[in-house]
Amino acid sequence: MQSTIEIENILDYIKESSPGQDEFYQATQEVLYSLKPLLDRDSRYIEHNILERIVVPERSMIFRVNWVDDAGKVQTNVGYRVQFSSTIGPYKGGLRFHPSVNLGIMKFLAFEQIFKNSLTGLPIGGAKGGSNFDPKGKSDNEIMRFCQSFMSELYKHIGKHRDIPAGDIGVGAREIGYLFGQYKKLTGEFDGVLTGKGLNWGGSKARKEATGYGSVYFAENFLKVYGKNLKGKRCAVSGSGNVAIYTIEKLYEMGAIPISCSDSRGTIYQKDGIDLQALKSIKEIHHASLEEYATVDCKCNYIPVSQYPKGGHAVWHLPCDIAFPSATQNELTLIDAKKLEENGCILINEGANMPTTAEALKYIRKETNLLFSPGKAANAGGVATSQLEMSQNASMSQWSFQEVDIKLRTIMQHIFKIAYETSVEFDCEGDLVKGANIAGFRKVADSMIEQGSV
Ligand code: NDP
Repeated sequence: MQSTIEIENILDYIKESSPGQDEFYQATQEVLYSLKPLLDRDSRYIEHNILERIVVPERSMIFRVNWVDDAGKVQTNVGYRVQFSSTIGPYKGGLRFHPSVNLGIMKFLAFEQIFKNSLTGLPIGGAKGGSNFDPKGKSDNEIMRFCQSFMSELYKHIGKHRDIPAGDIGVGAREIGYLFGQYKKLTGEFDGVLTGKGLNWGGSKARKEATGYGSVYFAENFLKVYGKNLKGKRCAVSGSGNVAIYTIEKLYEMGAIPISCSDSRGTIYQKDGIDLQALKSIKEIHHASLEEYATVDCKCNYIPVSQYPKGGHAVWHLPCDIAFPSATQNELTLIDAKKLEENGCILINEGANMPTTAEALKYIRKETNLLFSPGKAANAGGVATSQLEMSQNASMSQWSFQEVDIKLRTIMQHIFKIAYETSVEFDCEGDLVKGANIAGFRKVADSMIEQGSV
């Protein structure tokens, strides 16, 4: 009872102190309620006021980023870095460049990152950053100038033992390259301050593939508990960026059939399986829209956003066995969850961060037998491999693709095991939302108690 009052007080406080930060509120609400069984069992967390402390970032930076476009005009964007928790290691989390970026989204992503990083078993704290800059339609030179300007402020707050950013939506190998170049110029240091670096200058093999591959490894582990596997399974995948592409690649390797991908303009449905090479060429080389895919491959159906079901996303209305939401937050709604269940889907495996709306998640957990892998566990392969990149940088070595992939698979197995075993420990076997939140929180909260009132 005391824990419920405590949780509700903290949520009221967040609502009041962070107005309009809906995604942050959604993320904290999910985590705090799922901690109830732990709080009821161990009174130390309330005694030490851990909940109130853990929902406030250690530091949030908001800064202006001026850059010059190709027409010679000065443009202005807003940059962010939220350093949420350094309890178990230096801050670590990606940078997102997307027009939707605001403080609430940065805080939700950084908050989730604390527990995700904790689950990996590696010594890394939680952070996130980015800008409302839209890389779409910008020339290479404009992107370079923006990245240089962004880093001209960010470099003051990061460092290889302090805060190590990486990529996220809109920040891939090209952007990491420009950011790293500027960091090196400003500090005179060549060190592992960013991950996702190019293979010629300190990057790790298999980092690009890690989040997508890891998400599929996670699903493999989950299905195994119920005597199932991925072979022959029709998998609906959303997104067509880094996570989606390498989810599709690994699904093929595991004998599954990835039947879809999407971007912000539409969805491709290809019953016999997505043409991975065409997809890579369109997205990784030409940075074009999926409309182009439909012109290259006439065996697919292209569904533009204007034809999506009302309140839903076309991907989740395709008949499938497993769903891999791999695009962005809140892309799978209640209507979508109902459709997935109706179509016989057995597992929703989150590759993106918080892609399932609160309403849909409640329905899935309370009213269906669908298996559900939360993003903070299922997509942790990316950050785990970033940490492997940091290890390689520290020892000035480079491991083979296979070595990194084997380590990634083992880490995903560990993450699954800890989330699953924690769900068993708290009498909710298979509820990985509770399992992952409790396991991720417990390690950080115990460490906070050990470190005192800092
Ligand atoms: P990318 O930028 O490579 O791809 C994002 C994809 O999602 C694109 O297809 C994009 O379409 C689509 N998308 C983005 N925003 C929207 C939107 N508002 N509406 C519809 N579609 C959208 O990003 P990643 O693949 O790296 O990231 C995808 C998700 O995975 C994010 O939630 C990210 O936080 C999460 N993640 C990523 C990790 C990584 O290692 N990269 C690690 C862990 C989690 P379009 O191109 O048309 O915008």
